[in-house]
Amino acid sequence: KHLPNTTTNRSVIENLSKFKESATVKKLNKLEKNRIERRKKHAEVKAEKEENFKKNQNNPHWELMNMITQYQNSIEFKPLSSRDIIEEHLITVAVRKRPLNHSDIQKKEIDIITIPSKNQIIIHEPKLKVDLTKYLENHAFTFDYTFNENCTNEMVYKYSAQPLVRTVFEGGFATCFAYGQTGSGKTFTMSGNSADSNREKGIYALTATDIFKEIVSVKYKHLNLMVSCSFFEIYVKKVSDLLNGKKVLKILEDGKQQVQIVGLTEKCVNSVDEVLQLIKLGNEERASGQTSANLNSSRSHAIFQIYLRSTANPKKLHGKFSLIDLAGNERGADTFSSSKITRLEGSEINQSLLSLKECIRALARKGAHLPFRGSKLTQVLRDSFVGANSKTCMIAMVSPGVNSCENTLNTLRYADRVKELGGGDGHLN
Ligand code: ADP
Ligand code: MG
Repeated sequence: KHLPNTTTNRSVIENLSKFKESATVKKLNKLEKNRIERRKKHAEVKAEKEENFKKNQNNPHWELMNMITQYQNSIEFKPLSSRDIIEEHLITVAVRKRPLNHSDIQKKEIDIITIPSKNQIIIHEPKLKVDLTKYLENHAFTFDYTFNENCTNEMVYKYSAQPLVRTVFEGGFATCFAYGQTGSGKTFTMSGNSADSNREKGIYALTATDIFKEIVSVKYKHLNLMVSCSFFEIYVKKVSDLLNGKKVLKILEDGKQQVQIVGLTEKCVNSVDEVLQLIKLGNEERASGQTSANLNSSRSHAIFQIYLRSTANPKKLHGKFSLIDLAGNERGADTFSSSKITRLEGSEINQSLLSLKECIRALARKGAHLPFRGSKLTQVLRDSFVGANSKTCMIAMVSPGVNSCENTLNTLRYADRVKELGGGDGHLN
């Protein structure tokens, strides 16, 4: 009677210990597996770190890169978001940083610009101590808005030119400038991305889109307005019509200081597509007939204007939006150039950008002397700086790379001086 019982007990005990054993083994195995995995992960992380370190060491700027990363890890980021309010300014000054591109990366360029918030920008300038140790000099600037490399043209437009669309419907003059060194993104911002894949509209087309939307709106329909455009460039002292085979045009000033560009083509437009065609035509014209298309177009100012006229009386101008892709502001190279033309170009560009700054500052101090005759550029834009209802925005473009550091600082200092008064007296509310 006991036997089967004992057998049963023994087998139960055996089974139980087997079960226990297998559970322990399983546990151990699991621990071991985890350990191996952990080690593997550690090894991977270590290898990656070493590889990054080597990669950075291969980059002549690896120490600089590490210092900038450290700086960025120590601060908080709160960039501009599309929910941020749009402020009303007489003069708006904003900065846009473009992303590093393929050719920058090939040149082992590194990004020395940090945009921590919606209106601040920091340039990390590499410096050497007397004992040759490297350090960063961090230059901080504040503007109305700072756009980081992730901002789209649409976002830039929303906080710069878009608030001025109202101005032209209210019978005023609105002006938007793209300022900066060659290659910093002026044309990309104003004309849009012409690359066929992921085409992005620029500020010319975005402005035109809103104008066509507003012209039929309840608010402005009764004005019975029509839209037309002109597109011209100023190269040294020459004004050429980009919608008429680069015909050279004369500038006349009447007794009342009214400035006129004689014979400038003004094309009526009925849709955004028609505007896009004009932009394409004008930009092709701008680049044509030069030995180096890229170089020459960067040495001229391109001025795209959108006019609102009364349909009943087209001679009567209601409002005007001027959008300007300025000549590259880079200095230095020209001064030492052996070519007389290049030196002449350089000094002319310099002069026009200085006059521009003075005229914008005069706009902020209503009634102040307006030195618009200081250059062809400010002469043809005279309307933008006078009048009861003139508003301006400037987008200063910067390239992110360390090789552009000096030009970037020059651009920001210029933009800062344009803003001084804009930020103070120039506020509407
Ligand atoms: P600029 O007119 O100031 O000389 P570009 O607009 O021609 O400069 O820009 C130089 C290069 O950088 C172009 O290849 C352009 O497509 C590219 N680029 C400029 N801004 C941006 C941006 N925000 N995003 C992507 N690429 C850009
Ligand atoms: Mg350009």
